[in-house]
Amino acid sequence: MEWKQVLTKSDHAKYPFMSETAEHVKEIDLEINELESEDFNRILNKAEDRIEKALIDLPAYMKSRPRDDEIEIFSFPIAVMMAAATGDQLIKRRYALAEAKRVSDMLKDERKEKVMAIAKNFNWKIRLVEDISSPYNFALHFTDFLKNATEFRDKKWKLVNRLVLNGEVYLTKSEASRLLEEEVRRHIEEKLSTKVGSLPQGIMDRVNRLKQLVSEKRGEIQLEEVPRSVVIAAFPPCIKGVYDTIMSGRSTSHIGRFALTSFLINIGMTVDNIIDLFRSVSDFDERMTRYQVEHIAGVRGSRTKYIPPRCGTLRTHGICLSPDEICKKIRHPLAYYRRKLKKAEATAKQV
Ligand code: SF4
Repeated sequence: MEWKQVLTKSDHAKYPFMSETAEHVKEIDLEINELESEDFNRILNKAEDRIEKALIDLPAYMKSRPRDDEIEIFSFPIAVMMAAATGDQLIKRRYALAEAKRVSDMLKDERKEKVMAIAKNFNWKIRLVEDISSPYNFALHFTDFLKNATEFRDKKWKLVNRLVLNGEVYLTKSEASRLLEEEVRRHIEEKLSTKVGSLPQGIMDRVNRLKQLVSEKRGEIQLEEVPRSVVIAAFPPCIKGVYDTIMSGRSTSHIGRFALTSFLINIGMTVDNIIDLFRSVSDFDERMTRYQVEHIAGVRGSRTKYIPPRCGTLRTHGICLSPDEICKKIRHPLAYYRRKLKKAEATAKQV
């Protein structure tokens, strides 16, 4: 098979989400039932392995590199199909994240021209900065920058803090790789949202194995998914109590759920991450949970983002359990969180 452009076959094995790679796979014109034959066993094993590693050992998956180009190229779309077939949001999100993180890890070692070729795959308006004395490697049209940087919390990603000239944002190679990571993540998530038709039993057995694996490890995976900026150790006792109840799969009162959800929204956790926390609860109903969480986050209904009830209200409802020293100085769980974070920062500076 001839590869048509700058990128080599091993590049396509490393970056199998590219449209040219997808075309290559399409040209082979595989029937889904053929996948059950012995010849494809290694590809199916690799596809299952991609998802399994993404779930249980994301750092190792990030560092892994293709060994066999052909298997790598074909196992990717099959892994996407398997992950989509699980219908499990945590599996889908985690798989897209793992592939995207692996991509940005590999891009760090690539030449600028290659990074640009991959960016162009997503139709980015990007060019190399020719001035070798410049600390920047790329100039990217601001719309492509904003499309990928809006979710980033660090101040350095705010447009006002960037060098912008003639509508182009100047980037280093590692910044461009980080933005590409985001683009790849969304691209794969989009692919994972398409409906999968019926699959041969052999593949469904693998899909069910992955579902079983995630049901055993859901708690651990969710904990890893909590953004680094969310510090569980700084949760007030009331919120920690409800959080622990939910994590152990037990149900809690309406006010407890509301307090926890609104607290997490206000400290920066995403709607999807919060929904996943509730997934292990015995009476979990995804549609209802999403409706409630989105309502509290202000993305539907009255468009009001709610804040958690004050300590007095939580006390009345029996949620205020084991208040500690910090509790004596505050009247709101969010104030507790901020105070404890500050305290931890101050201690860290002294060390
Ligand atoms: S005093 Fe406030 S922050 Fe502390 S446990 Fe009670 S409700 Fe939570």
